[in-house]
Amino acid sequence: MTETVIMPGQHRLPPLPYPYDALEPVISAETLRIHYDRLHRAYVERLNRAEMAMVEARRRNNYEFVKYWENQLAFNGSGHILHSIFWTNMAPAGTGGQPGLATSAQINLYFGDFSNFKEQFINATEKVEGSGWGILVWHPSWRRLELLQCEKHQNLTQWAGIPILVCDVWEHAYYLDYQNKRREYIEKWWSLINWDDVERRLLLSFRGQAPIIL
Ligand code: MN
Repeated sequence: MTETVIMPGQHRLPPLPYPYDALEPVISAETLRIHYDRLHRAYVERLNRAEMAMVEARRRNNYEFVKYWENQLAFNGSGHILHSIFWTNMAPAGTGGQPGLATSAQINLYFGDFSNFKEQFINATEKVEGSGWGILVWHPSWRRLELLQCEKHQNLTQWAGIPILVCDVWEHAYYLDYQNKRREYIEKWWSLINWDDVERRLLLSFRGQAPIIL
């Protein structure tokens, strides 16, 4: 078995799996271009910079600036990981399939039924205080799903949760298109969910795994 290890400073911006205008009219080409090409690229560059700064700090045994660089690792690392998932969690409307067998079974088991899950997802994500995300996670330790609000994204939420489906509600994700109408954005975003990707992530998470993020 070949194991991929992403060494310090080696992160790369993943290719966007569709053209900039593929998610219109829900997400405009302009919003997607700025979000992916400027903001996500900056997360990757700053994560690499922080990791290399810590390589150098370890080499010199000099941790004078460790608080700053750890903050940079958390902020930019979380940004890179969550956006990498976010892009593949979406697909052009009508091409993302239906909730898969495992996805439906786990949602029904924990949330009661699919409409309960959808209502909780939309309401919880709408009510994230300030910038952040709504995140459906699989708990490897609890063997079930959970739905979480993530304020900002550098703060730890629940330990060991594996993100399965994430929704960006930082204003840059929707403000040009929806201004302050976050709920409308989330409700329309729903039509973009790539359920095939959600199912793939869930099946992997059963084994404590997630797709490789470069
Ligand atoms: Mn974002």
